[in-house]
Amino acid sequence: MTNKKIPLSEPCLFGNEWRYVKECLDSGWIATSGTFIRRFEEGVQAYVDSPHAVGVGSGTAALHLALLAIGIEPGEEVLVPTLTFIAPVNAVRYVQAHPVFMDVDPQTWQIDVDKVARFLKEECRLENGKCIHQKTGRRVKAVIAVHLLGLCCKIDRLVALAEEYKLHVIEDAAEGFGVRYKKGRHVGTFGDIGTLSFNGNKLMSAGSGGMILTSNSEWAEKIRYLATQAKDDPYEFIHGAVGFNYRLTNVHAAIGLAQLETIGERILKKRRIAAFYHEGLSQFADITRMPQVPDCEATYWLYTFLLKDEQNVYEKRKNILKQLHEEGIMARSLFHPIHLLQPYKGEIAYIMEYAKKIYERSICLPSSVGLKEADLQRVSEVLQKVLWKKY
Ligand SMILES: *Cc1c(COP(=O)(O)O)cnc(C)c1O
Repeated sequence: MTNKKIPLSEPCLFGNEWRYVKECLDSGWIATSGTFIRRFEEGVQAYVDSPHAVGVGSGTAALHLALLAIGIEPGEEVLVPTLTFIAPVNAVRYVQAHPVFMDVDPQTWQIDVDKVARFLKEECRLENGKCIHQKTGRRVKAVIAVHLLGLCCKIDRLVALAEEYKLHVIEDAAEGFGVRYKKGRHVGTFGDIGTLSFNGNKLMSAGSGGMILTSNSEWAEKIRYLATQAKDDPYEFIHGAVGFNYRLTNVHAAIGLAQLETIGERILKKRRIAAFYHEGLSQFADITRMPQVPDCEATYWLYTFLLKDEQNVYEKRKNILKQLHEEGIMARSLFHPIHLLQPYKGEIAYIMEYAKKIYERSICLPSSVGLKEADLQRVSEVLQKVLWKKY
């Protein structure tokens, strides 16, 4: 194979990254203190318009800390979509709670809020201000709403439901940086706590990193405390709780800040990539293109489409991915439904109708911000060839 590989989603550096990292190295501020941390936090905070933003080492750490901040207890339950990257579900396990898996809306591929409503109405009851899952007798404490693929879920309805049933809402906006919903409000600021990720494949990367958004000052403080080993004294090693080493470094924050400065351009590029694929795929009657979510200003983190074909569709999809990879196109499937994966097989999954179908038919296309016109053309040509061949 002579063609160079076109990755799915790789970091793209075209701003002040080099200069800011050099500043860290020249000054010696390479670790978990330094001015870039605060500047990056303040920059994100202003951009998404959140009262607090706490930088941490990863999006997964952000989710773990979010669950600790709202006071999840072992044995409690947290509602999560099954079609998601696994990190939010793992975070539920980190605190010894149980995920209760929810299906996704076939139109938007996001958590199905109608089914969540039905679950709460038919399977739960309110008892002294607590939501109890009748089948297990456990308390349902929270819901994690994942905004998938640079689109968003119906978070306003979910927040209203959560109020009615006394649940906390954590929004995993790792894939939703830059996404705005209902007249410009940034995802991650609708619920109690929002989490972001800046790992290597996200729209904006710090190398590794995450951030926690909240309007609750007490939680913001608690999160900082727990992320810093729960340190109580500036001179002595007194720790008031079991803490974590979850802090963001100055070097990562320096890269993150440089990327944030170019966020507008990044989003435009993602939208152009999505529009290009969307247009190119319009000629195929037997596929479903990436959905538009009403009232959502999407950023299309990964452009994704589905095969419609019913017979052996999973094998056909696998075969398409194989052919794309043989030509150096690093396409992927969507996330595997988590309730069917080994670590979570024993947990409850509520009326699953669509998640598996969507997963089996899905193809995510290379969507890096740095994709060149020629790369896009090549993806398109190879894809058309494979699709016209009828797989
Ligand atoms: C990437 C991602 C995360 C995890 O972020 P890390 O920074 O890699 O820990 C969490 N949730 C979702 C939905 C993601 O896509």
